[in-house]
Amino acid sequence: MKITVFPGAVLALSLLPGFSEGQTGAGKALWPLTRPESTNFTETSRYDDVIAYMKAMAAASPRIHLTSFGYSHEGRALPLAVIGAPDATAKAARATGKTRIFVQANIHAGEVEGKEALLALLRSIAKGERAEWQRDVVLLIAPIYNADGNERVNLTNRGAQHGPIGGMGTRPNAQGLNLNRDGMKLETAEARSLARLLNEYDPHVNIDLHTTNGSDHGYYLTYEGPGNPNTSTGITRLLRDELFPAVTRAVKQKHQWDFFYYGGAANRGGVRAWYGDLDLYKPRYTHTYFGLRNRIGILSETYSYATFEDRIKAAYRFVEEIVNFAARKGEAIRKVTTDADLESIIGQPQAVRGRLVQVGEPVPIVLATTVEERNPYVPDRPLRRRVNGSENIEVMPHHGLIEGTETSIAPRAFVIAAPDPAWSAPATAAPARPGPPFGRPRNPVALLMSSVIDRLEAHGVKFFQTEAAATIKVERFRIESSTLEEREFEGHKLRTLTGAWQPHEESLREGALVIPMDQPLARLAFLLLDPRSDDGLMAWNILDPVLGQSPAPEFYPALRTTETILK
Ligand SMILES: [Zn+2]
Repeated sequence: MKITVFPGAVLALSLLPGFSEGQTGAGKALWPLTRPESTNFTETSRYDDVIAYMKAMAAASPRIHLTSFGYSHEGRALPLAVIGAPDATAKAARATGKTRIFVQANIHAGEVEGKEALLALLRSIAKGERAEWQRDVVLLIAPIYNADGNERVNLTNRGAQHGPIGGMGTRPNAQGLNLNRDGMKLETAEARSLARLLNEYDPHVNIDLHTTNGSDHGYYLTYEGPGNPNTSTGITRLLRDELFPAVTRAVKQKHQWDFFYYGGAANRGGVRAWYGDLDLYKPRYTHTYFGLRNRIGILSETYSYATFEDRIKAAYRFVEEIVNFAARKGEAIRKVTTDADLESIIGQPQAVRGRLVQVGEPVPIVLATTVEERNPYVPDRPLRRRVNGSENIEVMPHHGLIEGTETSIAPRAFVIAAPDPAWSAPATAAPARPGPPFGRPRNPVALLMSSVIDRLEAHGVKFFQTEAAATIKVERFRIESSTLEEREFEGHKLRTLTGAWQPHEESLREGALVIPMDQPLARLAFLLLDPRSDDGLMAWNILDPVLGQSPAPEFYPALRTTETILK
């Protein structure tokens, strides 16, 4: 292969730790090794290593542009490499008209192989090996999403995962929050940075790189598409009928490695099958969130008992083949996302609960054996290692599709009535927010409305506030029960409502908040606002200024209507 090195790059590269002759041999170019490569796969890159490596690759190639897409909780800039556009801006990336592919790694900072694979991919691009991608694809590469968690290295962070034995970061971010549960509530700076990136760069394909937690099988990598049944069927079909089969075939042909859908073999109710994860219908999961935004979302899970080196290869090969597919099928990819934006959900039943169902006929499932190896640094905590070449096949049903069980109809708009200006605080009212007093208590509806607006803006959901009073036909949701989970989850006690919609005529003051469902993000907006949604604003206590009042309110604070409301 032909290697080009830019004079400025050599200087920059030679300053890096781990710099070496690289894999290309003497007499050719000098390319720096990633930290795992230079430590015999015992260590993972720290934040500073990642930034230095990205800068070196950008210095080596005019094709690679660097920017950042936001901040971690502790103020680390989240790096983004843009390839295939004239510069790193969202405007330039979108103006190319090419298929935009976003790949993020390290959302769980103990699952570090995606981060290392993306640095290696940047090196391959810098070497000029990926010229065939340039014509059709813009790559957006974010190797270190949970940057704060990445720096909290500990040798015991990931159980029996096969290394890196020099330690890895934590699952949550610096606030102790799981970024892969923050898709809807957007409580972390990281998830808000991601939503901002999605709004600005609008990638057609979005890949979230992870490592499994303890499932037992023979695959080097497992994958899944968006789990929510409300996802546009065009997206689901393209993934299940075309992209996943093509990628799986290519990896098998080139590397003899098996990849399959995320899950594990288990006996449930006497049925031995390969079971996916029902919980993945919730858009708090990043890849499902991508799908609910009408874009292709892909979850990738390298196998935790494959060696660190093999896991990096698995993530690398997976991303490589997805980009190869996207470079060939860009038109089809862009079409399913455009179609999804144009589909109207108004009047259509939308799932608010789901169940796992069987996909087609039983399939051959690859199993393999693992062995325990002594961990030289952690007492009584062996590492488990996949035995390469020990694969065996068992045919079983695959329960991997999630279908809606309970549904709710999408209205033309959700409406939240403006706060009553005549409201005054009850004499005995507690402060409106915990902590020191913030002056007089605020109107709970005003508090609720400002939190809702904050979330809608962060997601990029369109809304407006009315400028005149109007009387409209609506439905209001009479609450029968309102319960909080006993156990705390991500700092919340999740709320569940039951009840029923009933017709009503509402006289709305000016300033009512209207969230129309005739917009591209309608599927997302619906699950944010419906009272039965178990991953929306209600569930995450964002409507609690009203719903948490005592006595409990009779009606849900958002109305729904089939009428068109004018500003
Ligand atoms: Zn994970």
